[in-house]
Amino acid sequence: MKINSEQEMLDFGKEFAKKCQLSKDSATVIELIGDVGVGKTTFTRGLANGLQIEKPITSPSFTIAKSYALPNGGTFTHYDFYRLPEPGLMIEDLEENLKNPKNIIVIEWGESVANLLPENHFKISISYNDDGTREIETNLSM
Ligand code: ADP
Ligand code: MG
Repeated sequence: MKINSEQEMLDFGKEFAKKCQLSKDSATVIELIGDVGVGKTTFTRGLANGLQIEKPITSPSFTIAKSYALPNGGTFTHYDFYRLPEPGLMIEDLEENLKNPKNIIVIEWGESVANLLPENHFKISISYNDDGTREIETNLSM
């Protein structure tokens, strides 16, 4: 799927929020795959908007994780493991977070925690086209 602008990426994220409403036995996990600057955090902003989160989403690159309250009582947590090749203590935080089916978790640069994630989690790959637009591929039919 082609994404022509920042606004289209925000809209795609907002639309994706509808896929996060299903009840399950563990948290909903969305893994974002793609290079620096490709739009992972932009997608996350749109998603948070669709999930009725009012607080502005800022990149967790320096803090590793940022959490926001969801209207249903769960939390929305945005992890960025880019500067954390060895996740260490953050593993416990993530494991705890995964247990609550009301929680929604977005992960950028998740290679180092891949073994903790539910088998059926959403994977969204974003890449650059030559003209600067973005290409999105997902592991689900959309
Ligand atoms: P990442 O989190 O993947 O490092 P960001 O979302 O922080 O990337 O940054 C993406 C940057 O690219 C933003 O400055 C955004 O305005 C810009 N941009 C330009 N075109 C697009 C597009 N089609 N989709 C997403 N972002 C875009
Ligand atoms: Mg980012």
